[in-house]
Amino acid sequence: MTTTLSGKHYLAGQWHAAGATFASTNPARLSETIGAFPRGTKADADAAVAAARAAFPAWRRTSRIHRAELFDNLAQIVKRETDALARLMARECGKVVTECRAEVVEGLHMIQYVFGTGRMPMGDVLALEIAEKDTFMRRKPWGVAAVITPWNFPFAVPLWMLGPSLVEGNTAVFKPSEDTPAIGQRLIELFIEAGFPPGVINLVHGEAEAGEALVRNPGVNCVLFTGSYEVGKRIAEISASMHDRIVASEAGSKSAVIVAEDAKLDLAVTCGLISAFKTSGQRCVSGSRVIVHEKLIDAYAEKLVALTKRLRIGDPLDANNFMGPLINQAALEKVERYNQIAKDEGATILLLGERLTDAAHADGCYLSPTIYRIKYGPKVRCIREEVFGPHLALIPFKDNEEASRIYNDTEYGLSLAIITENYRTMRYFRDECEYGMGYVNLPCIGAEVHLPFGGVKKSSNGHPSAAALVEAVTHKTAWTVNHAEEAKMAQGLTTEIK
Ligand code: NAD
Repeated sequence: MTTTLSGKHYLAGQWHAAGATFASTNPARLSETIGAFPRGTKADADAAVAAARAAFPAWRRTSRIHRAELFDNLAQIVKRETDALARLMARECGKVVTECRAEVVEGLHMIQYVFGTGRMPMGDVLALEIAEKDTFMRRKPWGVAAVITPWNFPFAVPLWMLGPSLVEGNTAVFKPSEDTPAIGQRLIELFIEAGFPPGVINLVHGEAEAGEALVRNPGVNCVLFTGSYEVGKRIAEISASMHDRIVASEAGSKSAVIVAEDAKLDLAVTCGLISAFKTSGQRCVSGSRVIVHEKLIDAYAEKLVALTKRLRIGDPLDANNFMGPLINQAALEKVERYNQIAKDEGATILLLGERLTDAAHADGCYLSPTIYRIKYGPKVRCIREEVFGPHLALIPFKDNEEASRIYNDTEYGLSLAIITENYRTMRYFRDECEYGMGYVNLPCIGAEVHLPFGGVKKSSNGHPSAAALVEAVTHKTAWTVNHAEEAKMAQGLTTEIK
């Protein structure tokens, strides 16, 4: 029997709960409530930003190495809590517990990376024209970061943003997704146990109202957002009136696997299946298109459908299951809508996704995978728009030029996988396709924290996440010291006064 959690905001080192609440439910068992959480208001958001602003000067002056050492404390705690965190995550967001465990480990890796940066360079030493001058590029924190995150990576994605922000000397307000507040709150409890001082990290629960109030607060220097393109665009529009506001926005995609004429078929099938259906297709990098050479597509479709039919769909707490439910009823209905759009657009359905309504699944948002074959066309919506569920299009192509054209013909550009044995083919797609993360003979999912995580077009506004986020959460300063007795200038400029 699990107890129902009682959620609270965390402001300036104190837990607070007041006003209206919202419930977090288990998508695998809608009758099970995980907890009740306060619905954050503008007043809560403003109080959190004020707390972060007040804590900033002392935190900025704290030794960088001491700040980093708190992340070492956090790493030890996360190791202790890994299995419990994975189980809570599985209950709250419906990802299978093995995937949740991998996400906790990814979060741990981010924490370990951040700890490591404490004793690494925080800038560069540069040469100057005048030998007696020393000069440095030194990074400084901006101030307060608002961290607004999605439900599908409720532990690792917040850490991708909180890690670099805090170690560099910023303070933060974290607003987790309204679908995963319990795991968000648990993360803050771990930060507190690790010894982060009051005000350095603050938590506001809630929905769009709380998120938007943070964005509208001019006391926030950086908005670090991951979620849908539509919300990221709104955040950028609101922030445009604040000329020195940094917005790092990571959004969705229509990622794809390209199976070249010379691909090894079994490898290509595995990569397509993992890209499309891991996390029930609910990753930003999920490959909802497999673009297959026309000579291979019949054999490819047959093998892929046969393998997909074998996938076990069920309780996320059972490590033998491959897929859990979708996050909520609205997500399920959206995928069904796109299944219908595909049919209306002329798709040949190879496997039709269905709601699972037997006793083991009836209380959850379970939907089995859909696979269809469809010809490319510039107006076909189902191969251009993000669906975010187990919905996969197989699209034939004749030559590599056509494959790259099909790949690029969406408004997104996040992840790409090429299956080929030919280095010229690999290089062609590497250079011609629009993406942020590219893979060869792999699925198009599988990030690691020390690599930049971002994309182009609607997928990102150019500030990759995880380790690369240091560029967004700091500003670079030039610091020059003269060791001569008199001031000497570059470019032949003189200080002589006639
Ligand atoms: P979402 O955009 O609905 O919500 C994300 C966050 O924004 C939530 O915390 C939400 O409360 C908040 N929010 C909503 N309206 C807001 C507003 N007006 N102002 C400020 N904040 C607001 O996204 P979601 O459904 O939680 O996640 C799914 C989306 O996230 C998909 O599009 C997926 O591709 C994307 N995603 C991207 C990445 C990446 O790194 N590129 C990673 C994971 C998920």
